[in-house]
Amino acid sequence: MQDIQRLGVYTSGGDAPGMNACLRAVVRTALSNDLDVTGIRRGYEGMIEGDYVEMDRRSVSHIVQTGGTVLKSARSEDFMHKEGRARAAQQLRKAKIDALVAIGGDGTFRGASKLHEEHEFPVIGAPGTIDNDLYGTDATIGYDTALNTAIENIDRVRDTADAHNRLFLVEVMGRDAGFIALNSGIGGGAELILIPETITEMDMVKERILSLMSAQRRSTIVVVAEGDELGGARGIEQALRDDPEFSDIDLRSTILGHTQRGGSPTAGDRVLASRLGVAAVEALLDGHSDVMVGLVNGETKLTPLRNVYGRRKSIDYDLLKLTQILS
Ligand code: ATP
Repeated sequence: MQDIQRLGVYTSGGDAPGMNACLRAVVRTALSNDLDVTGIRRGYEGMIEGDYVEMDRRSVSHIVQTGGTVLKSARSEDFMHKEGRARAAQQLRKAKIDALVAIGGDGTFRGASKLHEEHEFPVIGAPGTIDNDLYGTDATIGYDTALNTAIENIDRVRDTADAHNRLFLVEVMGRDAGFIALNSGIGGGAELILIPETITEMDMVKERILSLMSAQRRSTIVVVAEGDELGGARGIEQALRDDPEFSDIDLRSTILGHTQRGGSPTAGDRVLASRLGVAAVEALLDGHSDVMVGLVNGETKLTPLRNVYGRRKSIDYDLLKLTQILS
């Protein structure tokens, strides 16, 4: 067992709904195991600057239902360099922090792994990102909420698209992964879904749209992942506007953007975040380090951080086939 008396916890990278629920679970599990807990504000930026706050049970009261992160998040250029990480380690030692729980995405875990390697801090990762692009867990904290927000907005777009027989290109988030696009497209009944995991050719997109529009549908919705290689919804819109074959088609594009990051976490995200927060502290107390806690087939599972950021999580290709049948 590692001799841990004080645990440090931070949220880092892109914020995700459910990070607060995870933080609450980490703090309360640590306290109930007689550990002291320090909250590190603003991710690695705050870690380097010593922007720390003592956490007690009350400091995480009534946050299970809130979006964002009460510890704030940030991106830190300094932490990308060895000297920055050495300054962070110095601050952590000064604050008597013996171990860390990092809530964030793959960049956060790359940094955590380096801190572990260079300064021997025990560290456990909890997957907090809306993109769902982390190997080692079926879902990341925040993904379910973002997906539901995307679907709700696609439903709204459908109403207005129907009223005018319009073609809508709806761009959703996900960076270079297509999980939100694929699943919100299916859930929102999109006629076409474009994701980075498959090759998207403009000629194919045009042909498919023309065939959909000629079938006299009331409306057509194309869900486009922000990381799709044709330049997202705006890139496709421009190409269609430049093509005389599309001059009669009433076309609009909309980018859902940061609405997908905010809002109260869904029940699924709250429960996932709570389970993983508890599991992260238990894993530390069991002597594990440099691993991420995830949920795979309903069971918590530990995956080495290097595998989490070193491997690409695959989308479900059967779901892609489904869209061809359903659209
Ligand atoms: P999301 O996927 O939601 O954007 P993330 O954790 O991947 O979350 P990043 O901005 O990629 O977000 O990373 C967060 C921070 O982690 C960075 O600002 C940087 O300080 C640190 N970091 C990222 N990559 C590395 C690396 N290779 N070495 C050291 N630190 C890193």
